[in-house]
Amino acid sequence: QQASPATDLNLSTSDQLFTRAKDLIPGGVNSPVRAFRAVGGHPVFMQSAQGAWLTDVDGNRYLDFINSWGPMILGHAPQIVLDAVAQALPASLSFGAPTRREVEMAELIIEMVPSIEKVRLVNSGTEATMSAIRVARGYTGRAKILKFEGCYHGHGDSFLIAAGSGALTLGTPDSPGVTEGVAQDTLTVPYNDLAAVAAAIEANPEQIAAIILEPVVGNIGLVPPAEGFLQGLRELCTRHGIVYIFDEVMTGFRLARGGAQELFGIDPDMTTLGKIIGGGMPVGAYGGKKEIMDQVAPAGKVYQAGTLSGNPIATAAGLAQLRYLHEHPEVYQQLERTSALLADGTRQIAAELGLHYTVNRVGSMWNVFFTQQPVTDLASAKTADLDAFGRYFRAMLHRGIYLAPSQFEALFVSTAVTDDLVDLYLTACRASLREAH
Ligand code: PLP
Repeated sequence: QQASPATDLNLSTSDQLFTRAKDLIPGGVNSPVRAFRAVGGHPVFMQSAQGAWLTDVDGNRYLDFINSWGPMILGHAPQIVLDAVAQALPASLSFGAPTRREVEMAELIIEMVPSIEKVRLVNSGTEATMSAIRVARGYTGRAKILKFEGCYHGHGDSFLIAAGSGALTLGTPDSPGVTEGVAQDTLTVPYNDLAAVAAAIEANPEQIAAIILEPVVGNIGLVPPAEGFLQGLRELCTRHGIVYIFDEVMTGFRLARGGAQELFGIDPDMTTLGKIIGGGMPVGAYGGKKEIMDQVAPAGKVYQAGTLSGNPIATAAGLAQLRYLHEHPEVYQQLERTSALLADGTRQIAAELGLHYTVNRVGSMWNVFFTQQPVTDLASAKTADLDAFGRYFRAMLHRGIYLAPSQFEALFVSTAVTDDLVDLYLTACRASLREAH
């Protein structure tokens, strides 16, 4: 399979659909980053996907490094997941009553992520994080939460303050519509700044219910935790009775079978999950220590519910993908190797072209920042040359490589990326980096 040559992409059907969509849907899309606002041009409307490849409505094919923003760790349409869904379909699309697969899913999550002793399934990452902070507040009797600048935890009001991802891309990290009352209960400090966290705790004694973070930030590009940062937060939380929440919606089951907490050896009090646990279907989960999770209704009084939570088709897809990951630990070695080839190759090409860009990577999450500064937090991420990134993005798209349409997003690698495809990517990368300057 050859990547398309640069130029001559026929996107006429996509363009027509986008014109119709703009009259009907805000910005023409159902999630902001899909609109390509930061990189120029119109979004590509997709038709089908298989393995590492996407096919759009005009018949163009793209090598995919978004992978639905993370869930498709085995590539698109893996047979084991399709079979599980096909088998589940005739039984029911939804019962609104408990099912066997929910129990099996909970057992598997708890086995793979040992810090989780009890878990509740929801329908998205946003629901997971919103619920987790409510439980932490109910458990501690405190009102405030602390988050980090540029971390994105979904679109719950409490998190749209110094938010990353699409909110950052569109220049609205603090969303209108979030009341002052809510905003004043969210404290924000720079990522990787333990001293700032200690100062915030001191300034708000016995008022902080939870510290929530992305253990590896995937929503300002890719930013790893500094040595000792995650452990330092663990110690501060323990000392001050704060619930330590790992938002592993992106990193869970991706950076290791047990997520970032396994990779870095940290025992958080609560964990939020999404993406991979749905196998491409809408699923999220939050879980943690028994004592905390037993606050949740109907065991306890903190209310949280969902008409479609634990949906039989979604749990069939998620369970099939999780079981595969559980039974195939070699997946993580393969992803590590492929991702290193992609990231190291990109760094080398940029250096050869005299650009010396910063390439950050942890496991199968990575990205190239169009800056020569080390990127360790939001401020350093913002030193990137966004115009050059936009030109690079478009050049890659026209060569059949589908990257995240924003400098402030991570790229996700799937097991469907073979060495041949790495070479295809690197060839396109060299030509596109050259063109972008
Ligand atoms: N938390 C993190 C770390 C995320 O990256 C995301 C989405 O990208 C969310 C939460 C929200 O998940 P969802 O988009 O499924 O609501």
